[in-house]
Amino acid sequence: MTTGNAEHREDEGEHTMTRTPEPPSDTGTPAGPRYDRPAVDAFTAPYWRAAADGRLLLRRCRAEGCGVAHHYPREFCPRCWSEDVVWEEASGRAQLYTWSVVHRNALPPFHERTPYVAAVVELAEGPRMMTEIVDCARGALSVGMELRVAFRAAQADGSGGADSGEIAVPVFRPA
Ligand SMILES: [Zn+2]
Repeated sequence: MTTGNAEHREDEGEHTMTRTPEPPSDTGTPAGPRYDRPAVDAFTAPYWRAAADGRLLLRRCRAEGCGVAHHYPREFCPRCWSEDVVWEEASGRAQLYTWSVVHRNALPPFHERTPYVAAVVELAEGPRMMTEIVDCARGALSVGMELRVAFRAAQADGSGGADSGEIAVPVFRPA
């Protein structure tokens, strides 16, 4: 991790915050894997620990002339590729950038939650983030509306070994 050619960095970019969905097997049976559980690994563990504590973390570049915050968390800056990147607590404030009301999703447990509002929000610190809008009537959604982060309890799948058990997933509600 001390060297950084482009190839290596591309590999680092493969960290994902959630498990990659597999195609549903499709009998519609509720048993089986759930797709709302993040796979926590050693790198993302601080993010999930903070979320469980009601805090949203971002990564910020400390390279001279950059200073850009990003999300999802990466071990290098996606703007300048510096590895001098640190965790920072976000304000939790955001504006709605775009959204879509999801009426069908075969992956458990989302099929039990429809309809729900999948959204991209723009954090006050700059990065845009995929999330869900909660506690808001669909007719009240509007681009640019002020939002505030909230956290929904979820269960980690423990596959990363770093953390498991109760965790929390950031969602947003009207401010
Ligand atoms: Zn940078």
